[in-house]
Amino acid sequence: MPLLEFTSKGIYCAQAKVYLDPWRGVNKALITHGHSDHARWGSQHYMTHELNVPILKHRLGPLSVTGKRYGDPFKINGVQFSFHPSGHVPGAAQIRVEYKGEVWVFTGDYKVQSDGISTPFEPVKCHTFISECTFGLPVFQWEEPPSIHEKINLWWAENRTQKTTSLLMGYSLGKIQRLLKHLDPSIGTIYTHGATEEMTAVLREFIDLPPTQRITADTSKKEIEGNLVLAPPAVLGSAWVKKLGELSTGYASGWMALRGARRRRAVDRAFVLSDHADWKGLLSSIKATECENVITTHGYTDLFAQYLRDQGWNAKTEKTQYEGETLENTAE
Ligand SMILES: [Zn+2]
Repeated sequence: MPLLEFTSKGIYCAQAKVYLDPWRGVNKALITHGHSDHARWGSQHYMTHELNVPILKHRLGPLSVTGKRYGDPFKINGVQFSFHPSGHVPGAAQIRVEYKGEVWVFTGDYKVQSDGISTPFEPVKCHTFISECTFGLPVFQWEEPPSIHEKINLWWAENRTQKTTSLLMGYSLGKIQRLLKHLDPSIGTIYTHGATEEMTAVLREFIDLPPTQRITADTSKKEIEGNLVLAPPAVLGSAWVKKLGELSTGYASGWMALRGARRRRAVDRAFVLSDHADWKGLLSSIKATECENVITTHGYTDLFAQYLRDQGWNAKTEKTQYEGETLENTAE
């Protein structure tokens, strides 16, 4: 029997009787990070990296959860587990599983580029690597993040000279705080949508971020004119957005690398910024693990697994309910 199996409830370690990022309620769940496709409600007990404890409680309400540090091993029924940085969003971890000398690593979501707010990705040696591949096609090659942040600040500064408000959208956990971290507060005031403000408040406990001001019913159009508003992409076209006045809209996502996706989102400015590894990042990470087997879980799974087989890996795809970064950002 393999050390980890793909079942109808999630990735299961039968020896330890625990699930990794299950999509149904289970007895014991080990969680890689706080996005809703990986951390789901309904399990009896959760174990995760300590930074995810307040995030999970904010997202899922009161629950029984134990926090662990990166690299600290713990045993469940003879199986050794540990969390290692995946660089995806703050608190995000890969899960290393070892039993009788055999090592598996489950990535959850990961990225190789440093974002200034998450603990950087750390390759972990293993025999079997369970990898996401949201952007597992050669067309996805990320620019260095500092140049993107510079473009965002320039866009904001230009809008300000025309008394236009900048609406910058990204998903609420990770992307928004990464954007916020690199905004230049000397340009103007940074306003937030309520959902954005609440998640940011949770992360402020352990990340130093520029100040923000929540938009309320009392906030006037005049007040926010020329300033910047951070919000989730779901607000586009809503009554909430209409109240903001003259806007330039910007959207930060890996999907913005594709012209078709840019057209579908219909925003004024597209910023290609992802919390997932690009093509080269995926390949370099897989090489660094020195694994023999790769299991692809979400993204361009079949194409990516085929490419890996052509390169000599023993690679296959397993079906999961993880979504990675979706264009509509349901997996926040
Ligand atoms: Zn994620």
